[in-house]
Amino acid sequence: MYLSDLKPPLYWTLNEHTKTFKEWNCQSINKRCCELVPVSQRERFAIESLVKDTWKAEFVGIGRDSRGLEAINYRNIEILNVERIENPSVAERYFQCRARMCYKVGQFKRHFPKLEEIGCSSGPILTSRKTNNTLKRGMVHMVNEHYLFHGTTVNLINNIADQGFDQRLSNGMFGAGIYAAESPTKCDQYADPKGQRDKKSEKKMILTRMLLGEIFVTDTPYSFRRPPCKTCKDDECCESFHNSQGNGSYDSVVADGIWNFREFIVYDSSQCYPEYIITYKRT
Ligand SMILES: [Zn+2]
Repeated sequence: MYLSDLKPPLYWTLNEHTKTFKEWNCQSINKRCCELVPVSQRERFAIESLVKDTWKAEFVGIGRDSRGLEAINYRNIEILNVERIENPSVAERYFQCRARMCYKVGQFKRHFPKLEEIGCSSGPILTSRKTNNTLKRGMVHMVNEHYLFHGTTVNLINNIADQGFDQRLSNGMFGAGIYAAESPTKCDQYADPKGQRDKKSEKKMILTRMLLGEIFVTDTPYSFRRPPCKTCKDDECCESFHNSQGNGSYDSVVADGIWNFREFIVYDSSQCYPEYIITYKRT
């Protein structure tokens, strides 16, 4: 995988599986590089089921980031549309990153523990327990690749489709990272500004692929600049001895504590590919 010229997933439709990312990128120069493609019925069903099975009605309007939602009186969402983002330049970075992680596993004979194998975590990732075989196709579990939800306002969705995520524009409880969740109920909190909540207008969220790699689990808020060193747990560690033999740093942070929702954070945009846009309304 590391040595091969990477191609888009087989179920993508724009380039008919014949071209590598490099060829597709060269051909796309001067054109808009990103297209929104209608999903198959099977994909739509898989994503609707995933949203339904991970929705937490009991947490609607609960918690600091939900401010204003309790007043608009809804318990659920209805999906109106699902589109796939086919963006060869953003996807190339992502699949290269995935290939490098696979190389790390092979080269250093390393095992990347699953979240539920890490002592202080509260269990497996809900989206991955609930994804059906349609969405599981082509996912690489050994590097902890998962589908997760990302919430943002409608006006930023096209930017994400065009350029991918940008952790430099974010600043959350765990630092400038890209944040995702295993429940769409968490993402819905970010679909509109806290002072301008409404039930009528269409909202959007992203279903993203995320490479969690080696996961650091924490229950304590801390503004990480990057995932911490595996040896000393310092996020700014410069100790070359700690970096030897491919040991280095974790790849992601999972906030798993007293909160209503766990959060999944990466600090490098090449670890995420925003693959689907879900358009919905609150009901
Ligand atoms: Zn260190």
